[in-house]
Amino acid sequence: MPIHDFRCKQCRHEFEGLSRPQDPPVQCPSCKSTDLEKLLSGFAVSSADSRAASALDSRKRQVRANKDKLVADEEYRKEHEGH
Ligand SMILES: [Zn+2]
Repeated sequence: MPIHDFRCKQCRHEFEGLSRPQDPPVQCPSCKSTDLEKLLSGFAVSSADSRAASALDSRKRQVRANKDKLVADEEYRKEHEGH
């Protein structure tokens, strides 16, 4: 299934959506904008801006997208959530 993570450029909402050629353009479920940024899988988004703007969403996405980095994510959570 070609599921991708998107971030709306209008309201910065992040969501998962199907992106298939035969489907209509993906819309932001929050504001219905189609001006979206497709986020790269593998947590390749590395700008400080995106991390600061949506640290929590990014962490959740990181868990899903980087199943091979669950150990690293656990360390990340301990550092940032104090568990
Ligand atoms: Zn939006």
